[in-house]
Amino acid sequence: MQQKTFITSPIYYVNDIPHIGHAYTTILCDMLKRFRILQGEDVLFLTGTDEHGQKIEQSAQKHNQTPQAYADSVSVKFKELWNEFQLDYDIFVRTTDSKHCQSVQKAFEIMCEKGDIYKGSYEGNYCISCESFFTQSQLGENLSCPDCGKPTQIVQEESYFFALSKYQDKLLEFYKQNPNMIAPAFRQNEVVKFISEGLNDLSITRTSFEWGIPLPENPKRNDSKKHIMYVWLDALLSYISPLGYMQDSAKMAYWENALHFVGKDILRFHAVYWIAFLMSLDLPLPKHIYAHGWWTKDGAKMSKSIGNVINPQEVAQAYGIESLRYFLMREMPFGQDGDFSQKALIERINAELGNDVGNLLNRLLGMSEKYFSLKVDSKDVKKFFATELNELENIIDRTQEKMQTMQPQRYIEELWAAFSLGNGVITKYEPWNLIKNAQQDKAMALLGLIANILAKASLLLYPIMPQSAEKIAYALSFTISPDSFATLIKQHALLDSLILQKIPPLFPRIDSPLMPESTQEHIESKPLDSKTQGNQTKSANIANLIDIKDFSKIDIRAGKVIECCAVEKSQKLLKLMVDINEPKPRQIISGIAQYYKPDELLNKQVCIIANLKPAKLMGLLSEGMILASKDENGLSLLCLDTPRENGSKIS
Ligand SMILES: [Zn+2]
Repeated sequence: MQQKTFITSPIYYVNDIPHIGHAYTTILCDMLKRFRILQGEDVLFLTGTDEHGQKIEQSAQKHNQTPQAYADSVSVKFKELWNEFQLDYDIFVRTTDSKHCQSVQKAFEIMCEKGDIYKGSYEGNYCISCESFFTQSQLGENLSCPDCGKPTQIVQEESYFFALSKYQDKLLEFYKQNPNMIAPAFRQNEVVKFISEGLNDLSITRTSFEWGIPLPENPKRNDSKKHIMYVWLDALLSYISPLGYMQDSAKMAYWENALHFVGKDILRFHAVYWIAFLMSLDLPLPKHIYAHGWWTKDGAKMSKSIGNVINPQEVAQAYGIESLRYFLMREMPFGQDGDFSQKALIERINAELGNDVGNLLNRLLGMSEKYFSLKVDSKDVKKFFATELNELENIIDRTQEKMQTMQPQRYIEELWAAFSLGNGVITKYEPWNLIKNAQQDKAMALLGLIANILAKASLLLYPIMPQSAEKIAYALSFTISPDSFATLIKQHALLDSLILQKIPPLFPRIDSPLMPESTQEHIESKPLDSKTQGNQTKSANIANLIDIKDFSKIDIRAGKVIECCAVEKSQKLLKLMVDINEPKPRQIISGIAQYYKPDELLNKQVCIIANLKPAKLMGLLSEGMILASKDENGLSLLCLDTPRENGSKIS
């Protein structure tokens, strides 16, 4: 029978619009859903918004709105963003849904009947921001909130309590029986330590504000109207209310295999309170809780007052949702904090996506078109390349293991070994030489090997970058599906013979940042004359001082252009052969076609960086870089005042 699986993001509090952290968690859920679907599972993915509580009541007042109208206006922003990002959620729950409210009231009664809820009076240090009471030992300096650092207030009120202390031993036993419940593992140790230090009963109702779910009417209680549910009981139950908990429970079967993603700041609520609530309700417990870290920006904490909060929508609009997904999952080791910087994003796009993946596909398309009219056949791959195939299968196995233990970053690292393998066999076996030496069979097998590497890698890339993976699959004439995953990944089968489809380059190179650096830098660097705003070349703002030793690492030489022509299918690139007095002229691919015609450059002496690592552009090797300067009116090559001998060093 098909395994049913339930994946949840936290439900997001509507006191703030979506930021990069929200996007990260929700993308992780989408990633895991896609991975599990390829495994053949039937997956439901829940996200949503948490809309009750004092803070919302206060924010709504400030905006001169009812709490409901205010919650509606923010909730829709989350929903729209996930739609724009094409995140494949199945359920968008809102804690103001009437079905949810009824489930919470029924759960409250069940806990009462169980003897887990009693009435008492609570006095304690309360943080309005976090809507939590804290014990003396938990408070920070000057009685501040241990979670957000804001001052707490002494609050006393009549309250119903959940007998959390009753569950201390059961919780410890549960974590003992399930040592891999929480990932990463060090987080589970923290949770167990927290429980071992003793649990206080939990105040689960409030009388000090009104925006929440009222207690159910019950003749045995005369004060039901006075109390509303404490926000965490309400919020946590939103994971099961949309599955029909205590309503029509058709979907509750998914709950048997539940996986939660949370930020590290709300792990305790999930790993302690939520598990205890579920024990009290006699419901199955989640299989895993995955707790991720926080994002910083260029090494600094993001905050609204600094103005360095990353808006995920802006990033996706500038760089594409696929690149954003890739970056978020590749950059942050799961569970630790990660840093967002445009520089790192651009580097990863150009090197890892453009060079390693996009270029490999281009080379395959180019060579197979040239030598075999785009036909690819896998029949001799095993005969010629058994070792490489074996290595490929090992990489695939290692990659999958990383997802089982929720290490997306390591998953991607392992997967990239497959792309390296693909690029490596081209360098090693030089298909053009195989053709020249009449080894057509082996050349065909080599292209077959590369096609299979790309096909299998694209299936594993799909959870990370679904659209790019589907484009690669289209070029290779197959479809990404649980069936193709079963044959190509699980059964280690090879592609049938096929005709490749040509597609445009997957990851065009990005040469300069596509977004203003940050709100703050933007303001600080704003010139007095607003007309020059946004013109990056106007002010010669020299930063990043280097010393002469750094400069001496760069080997610049004068050299004569002895051949020059356009690069086929490229409007930007020229191919030049430059003589710098070496045995062979250097081939240099340069993005100057919009500024120079090939004839204009012939016999010109130019300056090149001679010790730049060779790179491939449009499948052509470039063995250096021509120096030039550019402003809004055009581009000029750097030339010597009077020609010098070819190969002369520039210093
Ligand atoms: Zn707080």
